Amino acid sequence: MSNETVRLTLDAEACIGVGQCELLEPNVFRLDDDENISVFVGEPQLPRDRAEIVVDKCPSGAIQIAGAP
Ligand code: SF4
Repeated sequence: MSNETVRLTLDAEACIGVGQCELLEPNVFRLDDDENISVFVGEPQLPRDRAEIVVDKCPSGAIQIAGAP
């Protein structure tokens, strides 16, 4: 399976601030200290295999791969 770069989306309303995404991909996600909500740092993109892991590990379903069904 190809491992192309995919873009991620983040639903701030759904985020519950667990910080799993920041632990996995600190160059893409950062937990905002004031709001306790994850935000993107830099480009919201990852190789597909890593994107799927972070989507899978987010407990609230706030992270999605852009364009995924
Ligand atoms: S893993 Fe999901 S719920 Fe947790 S901080 Fe990241 S986006 Fe929010």
